[in-house]
Amino acid sequence: MLNFSFQNNTKILFGENQISAISQEIPADAKVLMVYGGGSIKSNGVYDQVKLALKDHTWFEFSGVEPNPQYDTLMKAQAVIEAENIDYILAVGGGSVVDGVKFIAAAAKFDGQDPWDIVAKGAKVEQALPIGAVLTLPATGSESNGGSVITRDGNKLPFGSPLVRPLFAVLDPSVTLSLSDRQIGNGVVDAYIHIMEQYLTFDVNGKVQDRFSEGLLQTLIEEGPKALAAETKEDLAVRANIMWSATMALNGLIGAGVPQDWSTHMIGHELTASHGIDHARTLSIVLPAVMKVRREQKHAKLVQYAERVFGITTGSDEQKIDQAIIATENFFKLMQVPTRLSDIDVGAEQVDILVSALEKHGMTKLGEHGDIDLAVSREILTTAL
Ligand code: NAP
Ligand code: FE
Repeated sequence: MLNFSFQNNTKILFGENQISAISQEIPADAKVLMVYGGGSIKSNGVYDQVKLALKDHTWFEFSGVEPNPQYDTLMKAQAVIEAENIDYILAVGGGSVVDGVKFIAAAAKFDGQDPWDIVAKGAKVEQALPIGAVLTLPATGSESNGGSVITRDGNKLPFGSPLVRPLFAVLDPSVTLSLSDRQIGNGVVDAYIHIMEQYLTFDVNGKVQDRFSEGLLQTLIEEGPKALAAETKEDLAVRANIMWSATMALNGLIGAGVPQDWSTHMIGHELTASHGIDHARTLSIVLPAVMKVRREQKHAKLVQYAERVFGITTGSDEQKIDQAIIATENFFKLMQVPTRLSDIDVGAEQVDILVSALEKHGMTKLGEHGDIDLAVSREILTTAL
């Protein structure tokens, strides 16, 4: 196992009716900005629950954070923060709202000229406003990590700091009942791929991390399709297991002390930035291609994945890997997400453009060995056609 330090300060408030608990989590004298997206929280009752919980607080609201949150929108929230002297931000929504709030929280305390430098130039986050989260879409893990992905003028880029990790996150599985099938599928697949990117590398004897990862993958394989099936759709136990898996997938625990390969996410970001494809739907296309192109480098872990996650125990190692890749694609199809660029009408002529975008964004040494260069990324994209 590699050396690591691990600390996760996000207090998780899990279960039905936990939204009311935010009244105790946010200091009574705080001036709160509630930030949300396009309005799903108004139709499913979450807005009213938050409003009730904040009845004794001073609070303001900012809405309109879009999927793949945009810099320009987030900077509008800055005006409210300055005008109202906001000192606490409450994110109510999916990963886009939580990610957007992280940028707002860091930008509000940024010393330099343009807060975009935090994202584009890796300017250090020295301070940030405190954040709380009410999660409505299990997928990103953003509710208890320090990562965020922001888009400006077609550039979709990540930044991270422990200072923007939410102090608390409410995970009420019942609020996910209003999700569309598309968002359920996206969420399960995003979480699945977060686990894969911390698991499918090379062995460092991280037995604890491997077993956690395999258990989470199996849980998503078992529970994900149930959230789409008519007879089990409303089952709160299914929603609870998906929600907790998605948080555990990217709260730092399974990634501590093991190599990681975020190439699927970095290549996927370019597809969202240039073609507007939903985040998870880029990943379900890229990951199978990464598995195929990096088959040799990931050989031992691919065999372990085949055996332990899918129970494939017969045949040669090569046959096990083949079957595991097919099983992964079949799971993605069950979750109703695409697995090829052709499924989303992206053709071979786009590959050069995507590779240039990776170069522009400095994504030239990806993967657990830092050796997924532009030529390998090109091969991955070509394999995904
Ligand atoms: P999202 O973009 O936050 O939300 C997608 C859609 O789902 C929105 O239209 C939203 O509508 C709707 N929605 C959310 N909750 C709902 C509910 N309970 N009922 C009905 N509709 C609901 O989706 P996401 O997948 O959670 O986040 C994706 C973003 O996170 C991407 O930008 C991705 O790059 C990023 N990401 C971040 C991390 C990280 O670690 N920080 C990791 C992976 C991905 P409203 O806007 O109307 O609410
Ligand atoms: Fe993701």
